[in-house]
Amino acid sequence: MAPSLTSSSALPDLEARLPQQRKLVTEVPGPRSRELQQRRAAVVAGGVGSSMPVYAADADGGIINDVDGNSFIDLGSGIAVTNVGASSPAVAAAVSEQATHFTHTCFMVTPYEGYIQVAEELARLTPGDHEKRTVLFNSGAEAVENAVKVARLATGRQGVVVFDHAYHGRTNLTMGLTAKTMPYKSNFGPFAPEIYRVPMSYPYREENPQITGEQAARRAISQIEKQLGAESTAAILIEPIQGEGGFIVPAEGFLPTLAAWARENGVVFIADEVQSGFCRTGAWFASDHEGVVPDLITMAKGIAGGMPLSAVTGRADLLDAVHPGGLGGTYGGNPVACAAAIATLDVMRELDLAGRARAIEGVVVPRLRALAEELGGSEGPIGDIRGRGAMLAVELVKPGTTEPDPEATKAIAAACLAEGVLILTCGTYGNIIRLLPPLVIGEQLLDDALTVLENAIRAAR
Ligand SMILES: *Cc1c(COP(=O)(O)O)cnc(C)c1O
Repeated sequence: MAPSLTSSSALPDLEARLPQQRKLVTEVPGPRSRELQQRRAAVVAGGVGSSMPVYAADADGGIINDVDGNSFIDLGSGIAVTNVGASSPAVAAAVSEQATHFTHTCFMVTPYEGYIQVAEELARLTPGDHEKRTVLFNSGAEAVENAVKVARLATGRQGVVVFDHAYHGRTNLTMGLTAKTMPYKSNFGPFAPEIYRVPMSYPYREENPQITGEQAARRAISQIEKQLGAESTAAILIEPIQGEGGFIVPAEGFLPTLAAWARENGVVFIADEVQSGFCRTGAWFASDHEGVVPDLITMAKGIAGGMPLSAVTGRADLLDAVHPGGLGGTYGGNPVACAAAIATLDVMRELDLAGRARAIEGVVVPRLRALAEELGGSEGPIGDIRGRGAMLAVELVKPGTTEPDPEATKAIAAACLAEGVLILTCGTYGNIIRLLPPLVIGEQLLDDALTVLENAIRAAR
């Protein structure tokens, strides 16, 4: 665990356009938000949920302003997307400059340099120094679907192995790859065949708490060998740190053991880093923490400062195995999104956002640990604190048990919102508070948000 860091040096305040201060001037939601909510109900599909009842007007740094003039501290980054902030000047300038020239030609019709620049960047930044190729799409789900297409074609095999608690998207194939039925899959079937689910390494909820990462990997591998056999397995698809499933960090050794087995058996190891990528965990990618080199890596969310862009990067022999025309899409690698990505990656380097993510961990984790102790340690409501960098989670349980407490979790998120802090929940059991602040957040703002969160957790007992 990082030692507690002294203020100002760890997370210096960056220049911001909006005041970096929490401020409530109306009830929450305010009258303008309530009015929009009514208009929305009349025209927007009911199946689209929003975790917050407030409507955004402006956002910058660690702050989201709503249409009623309230300023909220953002601990969600639009689900790990706005790592560089929601209106980074460099990203805004790149978007505007590119839009002045052309917004679209279609890379499959008239190609352009930005796509190549993004591919060059990803070849450098992703784990491993082997020869790589990249193909760009729009959403995380599309990247995952295409990684599976590539793995199947290149291996001539069909089976895809996924894990308990996995989340890979909402299209038909990726729903099938996702573990949790409500709300993602329920009544949306039938799902695609040749998907096999095996046990994850979930240290907090292991029956045998002594089980090592390597043993947990062997448990999964033995299931693969029993259910379909290596010779029928095209790919192992895994989030190196699971996102929607509960910010589950597998025990050390789990990922390297799976990757080694995949390599020995001609199975494509795909790391889904859609949520964990781009400095979020204190490194460019979560795979970096254990030196895992995936065959293919899927990326989206943080890649382009909020513009829709996704990518599959990986071994040249796999991606070049596909026949010309086999991969693509009208908007894939849109030039405006590519310009945003290039600016975003520059900002990440310039501001050392990986370092800031580690500093955020250094600020948040000691405070959460102290709170857990104050509330009764292992007999209290905080069952587990985990994560890496600025991808951190609190698992809430009924005190004295390991039974999930989704009601308390909901109440805590609602209490934070009422005080001006936007907080997301997740987890198979709905009992995880997840912290995903923009990596440009300043320390004072983060401290203020943590005080609100701590009080909400105390009050929810
Ligand atoms: C969000 C997410 C996806 C899906 O991305 P979309 O852009 O919503 O399609 C896939 N995998 C992981 C790990 C994610 O967190």
